[in-house]
Amino acid sequence: MGVTLDLSRASAPAPMPINLSGLSRAELAAALVAAEVVRPDKARMRATQLWRWIHHYGATDFATMTDVAKETRAALAERFSLARPEVVERQLSRDGTRKWLIRMGPGVEVETVYIPDVGRAGALCVSSQVGCTLNCTFCHTGTQALVRNLTAAEIVAQVQVARDDLGEWPSPKEDRRLSNIVFMGMGEPLYNLDNVAQAIDIIADNEGIAISRRRITVSTSGVVPQLAELGEKTQAMLAISLHATNDELREKLVPLNKKYPIAELMAAIRAYPGLSNAKRVTFEYVMLKGVNDSPAEAKALVRLLKGVPAKINLIPFNPWPGTDYECSDWKTIEAFAAVLNRAGYASPIRTPRGRDILAACGQLKSESERMRIRERMALEAMIAVPAE
Ligand code: SAH
Ligand code: SF4
Repeated sequence: MGVTLDLSRASAPAPMPINLSGLSRAELAAALVAAEVVRPDKARMRATQLWRWIHHYGATDFATMTDVAKETRAALAERFSLARPEVVERQLSRDGTRKWLIRMGPGVEVETVYIPDVGRAGALCVSSQVGCTLNCTFCHTGTQALVRNLTAAEIVAQVQVARDDLGEWPSPKEDRRLSNIVFMGMGEPLYNLDNVAQAIDIIADNEGIAISRRRITVSTSGVVPQLAELGEKTQAMLAISLHATNDELREKLVPLNKKYPIAELMAAIRAYPGLSNAKRVTFEYVMLKGVNDSPAEAKALVRLLKGVPAKINLIPFNPWPGTDYECSDWKTIEAFAAVLNRAGYASPIRTPRGRDILAACGQLKSESERMRIRERMALEAMIAVPAE
């Protein structure tokens, strides 16, 4: 007996309402008109009003928008969403470091970390992709396949979640705890440049979260053809994951170097729009024991960066289960840093907080302080941006 079940409708997922947090001002106005929530002649005014609710007040519910007519609020709620993604896990360390595991969808989870006393007040490390297509051999993300690019809304959501947790709404102009953003979480931001640029436009907007572009840093493993576009579209600060000073070694650590070798990368960096002594490139250099940490390599680094307005962040390697790499000894890192210091690069390593307990170098004592010291050191060094 042929009973046919029509599953085509049952299996089609219900369309997700558009989350307004990821739209530009123009897109927001257009979405309101398309949904027939406002007349075209009122769209810009209404979009400006909503923008302030979403990005200045951090609203997650249309019902709180007291200066919007009740029927309009209901119409908005029917068609659009302002919901935050789910925070699956939250860790708080004694020194104020916070880490969130955020679920953007089934199987789509990203980490976002806030570190106090970095930059002007505190920096948020955000992800741009889930997983990564590049397989840097020392990077844990590199062992995970790319799940997908994050949308602009999902990138903005990481800032919103942090602001929710820090109690930082409405967006303060002064005395903020979250003062800097670094794209140094999961993923390669230049492989998701459109969404990263749109998120930066939203985060930097003066009538919203209002974190200035000079306090937003994008870190890349060196996607040479996208560098100019990054600078032109975002005017963000640039960080380059260098990690080696010759092609042979860099190919092993950052396989993308086979496609874009150091000379090409350096040429693209020198051409980055707006570089000056006030707007320097940060070079990240992960300290791998016996691999890239000799004084000769420190000297080679100085030679390579000659003439480029640069800062150098030495990152203690953060080991993960299954890696063959080890972090350089502290003395080796200090010797490497001393060479850089003599060449005029100020404090390339931050004295890690909690150094007194570093000898233990394992889990922190209390359950709520699970972030490992090494991990914190690596994170701190990674996102070190100069205090202003
Ligand atoms: N994909 C981008 C941004 C994310 S990674 C990039 O590669 O630049 C942010 C920084 O952390 C990069 O400099 C990266 O090389 C470094 N990093 C990755 N894994 C690390 C580890 N296990 N220990 C220390 N630094 C690491
Ligand atoms: Fe990791 Fe960045 Fe390399 Fe991707 S590009 S594998 S995130 S270090």
